[in-house]
Amino acid sequence: MRGLVQGVGFRPFVWRVANGAGLIGEVLNDAQGVIIRLCCEPPELAELLERLERDIPPLARIDTVETQPYTGNESWQDFSIVASGAGQIATGIVPDAAICTDCLADIKDPQNRRFGYGFTNCTNCGPRLSITRAIPYDRGTTSMASFEMCAACQAEYDDPSDRRFHAQPNACPTCGPKLTLVGSDGPVEGDPIALAAAAITAGKIVAIKGLGGFQLAVDAGNSEAVKLLRSRKCRPAKPLACMARDLAMVARYVSLDDVACDLLQSPQAPIVLARSKGQALAPEVAPNQNRLGFMLPNTPLHQLMFQYLDRPIVLTSGNLSDEPQVTDNAQALSKLASIADLWLTHDRDIVNRLDDSVVQIVDGTAQTMRRARGYAPAPHLLHPGFDAAPSVLAVGADLKNTFCLLQGCQAIVSQHMGDMQNPQTQRGFIENLKLYRQLYDFTPSLIAVDQHPDYFSTRRGREIAAQENLETSSVQHHHAHIAAVLADRGFAPDAKPVLGIVLDGLGKGGDETIWGGEFLLASFHSYERVAHIQPVALLGGEKANLQPWRNAVAHLWAAYGPEAIPDLLTEYGEIAALKSLQNKPLVTLAQMLERGINVPLASSTGRLFDAVAAMLGIGFETVQFEGQVATELQALAETCPNENGAYPIPIRTPIKWTALWDGILGDLEKSTDLNIIAARFHNSLAMVFTAMAFEITSKSNIKTVVLCGGVMQNALLLEKLHKGLGELGLETLSAREFPVNDGAISLGQAAILAARNCSVDRD
Ligand code: ZN
Ligand code: ZN
Ligand code: FE
Repeated sequence: MRGLVQGVGFRPFVWRVANGAGLIGEVLNDAQGVIIRLCCEPPELAELLERLERDIPPLARIDTVETQPYTGNESWQDFSIVASGAGQIATGIVPDAAICTDCLADIKDPQNRRFGYGFTNCTNCGPRLSITRAIPYDRGTTSMASFEMCAACQAEYDDPSDRRFHAQPNACPTCGPKLTLVGSDGPVEGDPIALAAAAITAGKIVAIKGLGGFQLAVDAGNSEAVKLLRSRKCRPAKPLACMARDLAMVARYVSLDDVACDLLQSPQAPIVLARSKGQALAPEVAPNQNRLGFMLPNTPLHQLMFQYLDRPIVLTSGNLSDEPQVTDNAQALSKLASIADLWLTHDRDIVNRLDDSVVQIVDGTAQTMRRARGYAPAPHLLHPGFDAAPSVLAVGADLKNTFCLLQGCQAIVSQHMGDMQNPQTQRGFIENLKLYRQLYDFTPSLIAVDQHPDYFSTRRGREIAAQENLETSSVQHHHAHIAAVLADRGFAPDAKPVLGIVLDGLGKGGDETIWGGEFLLASFHSYERVAHIQPVALLGGEKANLQPWRNAVAHLWAAYGPEAIPDLLTEYGEIAALKSLQNKPLVTLAQMLERGINVPLASSTGRLFDAVAAMLGIGFETVQFEGQVATELQALAETCPNENGAYPIPIRTPIKWTALWDGILGDLEKSTDLNIIAARFHNSLAMVFTAMAFEITSKSNIKTVVLCGGVMQNALLLEKLHKGLGELGLETLSAREFPVNDGAISLGQAAILAARNCSVDRD
């Protein structure tokens, strides 16, 4: 059996089922999974396999089962677990998992020896990747190595009928990790958990050592505390995630459907974005957003804290802005000194940083936005056709980076690494890549990189290739976006082309421009750019990414010519944003544009959103992060779901936006409500993209449309596209297990290279 079958209590599970059925034989781990040897009749085998599938342990996953006659000549007396190297795992590791219900019962039971113990775990739950230094996976290669199990824990560990049989991080208050509460003057006496919770209730900021990194906690109902956190963390705008005690507490603040409830309670325990009910949490938690991100307590420590808390807490990554989350105790004390009032910390090291994963629900389906804790490094099973592929290492892109190891029909995508401009993130990338290669005994034959030559990831990929004497291939960014969805959704390496609509921020294009609003006919093997939105200058290059007004100027010039702003002012003198634009250095910008200095052309949908938002007076001057005003526009539009108006944009390539601007400026001049304009803008995009897709597909006999790129995180736009295209008889596909954003670029890169080098015959 292959899949997630090691380190998840699978062998004792097989042992129990086989014993229960009175079968004789043995079960053991090998390099590829679990081997079961049985002396039985075919119906008994069939029944065993059925039971194994049906009652599978919570963290296990069976991908494939192969059966064959056994030619060995052992004479078994009973059914036993064969210790292949003391329960070691030959390759791979499972993701960290939220505390299970049995362990939760243990820590809440005053009679239990783990009552109130914050590091309780078993084979069905607890830390994995976050504490693993190397394989073989056993206690000695994890950060539990320094804790020697007491007799009671050892007895559990050795007993195949115990839930903690071979649970490597097994621990109890006698032998395991210990909590401390530290203030600015050193350790604080008393119950660390109760005191930390009391401090949060009193409006203090507490740094908590979570599973994959330090987190910062404040009372989510206390405006002053949240404001203080924002100012100390230099994070003025980005929404903050919250944690609540249970589903009932989450449901007070956001609307939850069944999918959301299941996700919140799953072993992955991600942050789930859900529509706010407008209940009173501090507005500073997620300013100008209509969604809130909630997770449930995923560790025993967080569970215990909520015994003392009556409302949600903000729980955000413990870092200085732009740096990765701190994982080390000493660094937490120094780096977070200017932010936290108290530190709830402990002596079990975090080996691998794991951010909290983020999921949203679109059309009733979960869509991963950040794939990290709980999900990575679970292998993704590709179409079996990939079995013939060489092993490929793909290094991803520089924003929301992940890397991918593709081996046979398994794609192992790393946890979210982050944005590569930061040296610590770069170091994390290098260290994690080294670890993953060791964990999966992985040697690449080919290396895939982005076409952007200056990405850190691209340079690093080329360095590795040079050191190991391998070839690199560069993959076009938006082709990789589409291929990621195809790989996610199980397409064969030789699958026919689909139409991909890639709405994105920026990615190096296949020509000399930057792309981000693309219609590509694409298979894993190749792509053809059949339509795109009009390229518009990024005035000042990278500055345009964080100063929306620059995109407004560029778009108005592209639509109406170089005299646009004074001309428009005579016609639309009442529009505040136009007046503000007049005060910008338009002459200098015009000269830059004329001379081609730092004004690269980009067909970016992300920058179009920025331009529209700026004209509506949203984030006119600056934004703190890419996509900030796009989510605000989406939130505005979602306040009027019944608005059906749209601006009539001509269906031809490149798609030009003059009619869109005519409509928006006209509406602004008439003082139309901004939420109506925002809704009309979304409707217009959905209509023009749908119509364009219909025209292309009817000419090319393609019936499948892939929707991807960072802008597709806009659930409103994505739902409209799904609906519109579906009504025209087209099948729409989007990513599920992997993000639609750049977090899946590595998967797409790897799949493209693997498919191109598959040794199977193609027709
Ligand atoms: Zn457990
Ligand atoms: Zn113990
Ligand atoms: Fe992208």
